[in-house]
Amino acid sequence: MSKFDLKIYPMGGVAEIGSNMTIFEFEEHLVAIDYGILFPYEDFFDINYLIVDTTALKKISKPITLFITHGHEDHIGAVVHFIKEFPQAKIYAPRLARELILSKLDRANLGHEIIEYNKEFKLDFGEYTLRPTHVTHSIPDTYGVIINKGQELAFLFISDFKFDLIPSFEEPFDVENIKTYFSAAKRKIAFLDSTNILSEGKTLSESELLGDFEEILLRNKRTFFTLFASNIYRVKNLLEIAKKANRKVCFIGRSLNFYLDAADKVGLLSKANYPIVELDAIDNYDDPRLLYLVTGSQGEHLGATRRIANGDQKNIKLKEDDIFVFSSKAIPGNEKKIYRLINTISETGTTVITSKDQRVHASGHPAREDLKQLVSEINPTDIVPIHGETYFLRKHIDFIKDNFPKIQTHYMTNFDTMLIKGSEINIVDGKQMEPLIIHGDSIVIPREKISERRKMACNGLITIAINHKSKNIHVDSKGLPEELTRYHNEIKELAHYTAFQEFKNRDYDYVVEKIRIKIRTFAKEQLGYKPITLVSMV
Ligand SMILES: [Zn+2]
Repeated sequence: MSKFDLKIYPMGGVAEIGSNMTIFEFEEHLVAIDYGILFPYEDFFDINYLIVDTTALKKISKPITLFITHGHEDHIGAVVHFIKEFPQAKIYAPRLARELILSKLDRANLGHEIIEYNKEFKLDFGEYTLRPTHVTHSIPDTYGVIINKGQELAFLFISDFKFDLIPSFEEPFDVENIKTYFSAAKRKIAFLDSTNILSEGKTLSESELLGDFEEILLRNKRTFFTLFASNIYRVKNLLEIAKKANRKVCFIGRSLNFYLDAADKVGLLSKANYPIVELDAIDNYDDPRLLYLVTGSQGEHLGATRRIANGDQKNIKLKEDDIFVFSSKAIPGNEKKIYRLINTISETGTTVITSKDQRVHASGHPAREDLKQLVSEINPTDIVPIHGETYFLRKHIDFIKDNFPKIQTHYMTNFDTMLIKGSEINIVDGKQMEPLIIHGDSIVIPREKISERRKMACNGLITIAINHKSKNIHVDSKGLPEELTRYHNEIKELAHYTAFQEFKNRDYDYVVEKIRIKIRTFAKEQLGYKPITLVSMV
């Protein structure tokens, strides 16, 4: 008899936002729900993303299945890494996420079968059955997961969802399915999204934006909408309105075409049905009938929104008659960058509209009233808050205690483990594992290299190459003020004196280190800080 029937442990996405991965470890099988990326905080100098380290999973000799809930990057972004680590794994994904994963594999030159599932699908793991359940979110084709052991025990795992009962173009959040497979069990444990736990009231439905979208597009002014390209149904709504209003639509930013092509391929929309024009094919860029859909709503450095705001987008200059709509919300940490953009755009006289002015954005996550309604309907015995930072998880627990005192709440963070035996549950603390740091496409960068990168970027670089035989010295510097070049001769003299007079009989390594220290000290006197200094002697 084993010590547990089932173990559940989040490895990412709990007590942080991003790099989602939660493991359901059955007696003979591992199921990973999602494997996404996390965009790093600023102190991880210019790193592309972080992913969960799966070394511990590789030590467990059970077959592994990856079950993808939806196509957001924080849920699918690391699938390529997963396939490299677990080439035998079975991977399941709904149609849009599957299409997005396939194009990632294509780019990585990697082949792997991604099995499509829909709401009728199920998988058996011993006594347990896993079923996807349709939820609404900010990308089409999003699912939660229900796992039951007959009528005795059931789990509901929905990390990303909004409780939208009147969405655009898709079925409403499927409460009935959850009632059938989850609520009927004796003990039922729900893992629920905490992202918007600080928001009072209800999250707007995607369809509730239509009125303001129409009103804005009927003003007949050249209009820019910046939004997340993955929000296919919002784009589809805008395309529909533009078509009715006899306006042409142009996409600026690669990811819009990327997501729309994937959506087109799986039948979520047909680009050919809409008056879409290519940027290069426009003859009058100032045409007030033009609607530009633009990426880079987070103020990304090379994003289209920033390019347009700064006047760096070819043929497009913002002017007084334009409207610029931020159909998006700041991801925590990006607020400053976005405010700066809004200011830059305002300087041109363009009218800026954000979700503070009009209904131009609806979140993809449930606010307090949504959670209250959902919890009342599905009636869990236990709730575990997930998808949110520590403060959000605690707030979620307080919220449940206040509103549903009979429900047991459980606080878990990444690497804590819920052990299930019969219908008893126990949570044990786990050992935190640092995520892997990825720069470029897929190479892991060791943690200690980050501070070296930061120093190089912030303090600049001086290189000194010394030819021992000819006594020639070459000095170069990068990322330093022009003034420093005035001192290149002095640096040369200092290196020359140190190498060929002061320490002329010492070995190379000793001399090189002495020169390095002297040059850094010299540079500090001129600049006030010490650049990275590389000395080589041949
Ligand atoms: Zn999501």
